[in-house]
Amino acid sequence: MLYGALEAGGTKMVCAIGDENGVILAQESIPTTTPDETMPKVIEYFASRVSPETPENERIAALGIACFGPIDVRKNAKTYGNILNTPKIAWRDFPMVKTMKDALGIPIGFDTDVNGSLLGEATWGCAKGLTDAVYFTIGTGIGMGAMSGGNLIHGMLHPEAGHLIMARVAGDDYKGHCPNHGACFEGMACGPAIEDRWGKNAKELADRPEVWELEAKYIAQALTDITMTLSPQKIILGGGVMGQSQLFPLVRKYLAEYINDYITTKELRNMNAYVCPAALNGNQGIMGAVKLAVMAAEAEEE
Ligand code: ADP
Ligand code: ZN
Repeated sequence: MLYGALEAGGTKMVCAIGDENGVILAQESIPTTTPDETMPKVIEYFASRVSPETPENERIAALGIACFGPIDVRKNAKTYGNILNTPKIAWRDFPMVKTMKDALGIPIGFDTDVNGSLLGEATWGCAKGLTDAVYFTIGTGIGMGAMSGGNLIHGMLHPEAGHLIMARVAGDDYKGHCPNHGACFEGMACGPAIEDRWGKNAKELADRPEVWELEAKYIAQALTDITMTLSPQKIILGGGVMGQSQLFPLVRKYLAEYINDYITTKELRNMNAYVCPAALNGNQGIMGAVKLAVMAAEAEEE
């Protein structure tokens, strides 16, 4: 069986066709500009896969969408499937699910981009078999997807753990990059915050140990808070900034220091596995979207 997958990001829409094993058979990127310009191209990509003229074995049974947010994931809400008050003005209130459902007429799965990435890793990657895990992306912004007891967490909206309030590291007087909070996690540790604080793009700071010491301390603070609240079995760190692989040992060191033996579990004793990079070679998001489609197809059958 084939499934459609859409990883809807702020800069590009990744459209793909995958099978029930998460194998991606075809993929195409479309720039994210405005809904009027972008969405007809996205629809066109999938439309040929639902047409009655398409041979049955080339048709998609459902579409999964892992979408930038904030988004409305409350199934019973009138605005379910809409993008909410994003800073990308053109996409505010855009009815993503309704648009795709009206165009394709197949079941649609819908969740946040970060829940999508986590779902990909929990189904086929480094969190396979786990019921409780989180995924952070640390890039242009910071977002977190979370799974608890085998279910992706939503809540009244969905988690926004990129905006955890941070304790300022001694000696750091950077005001912070978040328009709402200044010095929240994203405000202190996202890629643009690194660039703003140190005056150079994060990529060009690879040989400045003090940059990554400070970055690791903020990441470890957030991971401590998440360990204490959600009690995940694993924390996956992705996003452009985590391309600095020297961050991993530092984050693990400070996380152990901040937890300070308050909890002792077998997971925390194996820090290298507890805090780890994404394992699906950058395909965790699109593979997660395939799984969202599989789940939507199954839900429809019930
Ligand atoms: P996005 O968050 O927009 O989806 P990314 O996850 O690639 O995209 O994040 C982009 C941010 O990550 C930028 O601020 C960039 O400076 C930073 N970044 C990208 N690659 C690296 C790298 N190798 N080392 C450090 N920072 C990086
Ligand atoms: Zn914030």
